[in-house]
Amino acid sequence: MRTTTGWRAAGPATLRRTDIQRRDLRPEDIAVRVDYCGVCHSDLHALRDHDRHALLVPGHEFTGVVTATGPEVTAFSVGDHVAVGNIVDSCGTCGMCRAGQENFCHSFPTLTYGGTDRQDGSITLGGFSREYVVRDAFAYPLPSGLDPAAAAPLLCAGVTVWEPLHSLGVGPGSRIAVAGLGGLGHLAVKMAVALGATTTVISRTKDKRDDARRLGARDLIDSTDTQQMAAARDTFDVVIDTISAPHDLAPYLKLVAMDGTLSLLGYLGQVTVEATDLLIGRKKLSSAGSGGRPATARMLQFCADNGIAADVEVLPSAQVDTALDRLRRNDVRYRFVLDMSDLD
Ligand SMILES: [Zn+2]
Ligand SMILES: [Zn+2]
Repeated sequence: MRTTTGWRAAGPATLRRTDIQRRDLRPEDIAVRVDYCGVCHSDLHALRDHDRHALLVPGHEFTGVVTATGPEVTAFSVGDHVAVGNIVDSCGTCGMCRAGQENFCHSFPTLTYGGTDRQDGSITLGGFSREYVVRDAFAYPLPSGLDPAAAAPLLCAGVTVWEPLHSLGVGPGSRIAVAGLGGLGHLAVKMAVALGATTTVISRTKDKRDDARRLGARDLIDSTDTQQMAAARDTFDVVIDTISAPHDLAPYLKLVAMDGTLSLLGYLGQVTVEATDLLIGRKKLSSAGSGGRPATARMLQFCADNGIAADVEVLPSAQVDTALDRLRRNDVRYRFVLDMSDLD
């Protein structure tokens, strides 16, 4: 085994620095020195639901440098810049895997942390650590031109908004609304704008209007202003809903144009929908999460080509508790990224 250092859960809001073990490299594995790891809402959920007797190391959007390769690795060499997202393996044979949608693998993809390794049954430990060992197929070359700190959040937040934008055919002429301007939302705005869509932000935080415009949005609709919401009825081909708390979908379905789609990405619990809110205008309700390998690679190249990365606040990894606490209060514009170099 290889020993590295990481941050493990020691309570619902506390992590403690500790030695952790990584597996010896299998033939198709690479070892990655983790340089930057984003802090995702899922990390908060994992910590909240965590059994304190289990070993939990969060973190599933990171960038770093290859430090060793297994004998069968051909796609990477030592020194390459790479990125890893929230899945690190899948069955490889089911219909979803064959379609390049490993994120929907019928036997469930192996998650980057809290997952069960498909070969030895061990529980995976995440990217809040200085080293990660991963199968080469689930690491992505980091295109040159992308800042490694700002690119880290692309691997979870980025691909989560990219897949619906891409699969719903968003492009020039599309009218897109992004509800909620946070980690997911700000990347959805940047990508939709770069795809050529006319993009609007919907937020209850009016003081984000300047940010919305800076990100390329045409305007911001105040979701608490019933007149503004009514005026925007039936005007968007796609509404990307990134609001992470439970909320009424009806006001957002009303914004969707005929035959358009409301894509739920932020809150993934039970929702209630009046069928007539779909019936009137033949509207569609959809969802998505994470991405398969081909989409992840395409998304990274698209971001490099268009100069897109997350707006990040980089903190030394020793301040992980501060990052989690502020994320819990939505006090970040728009993503925390931990600098892991203080783990050396
Ligand atoms: Zn995530
Ligand atoms: Zn599969």
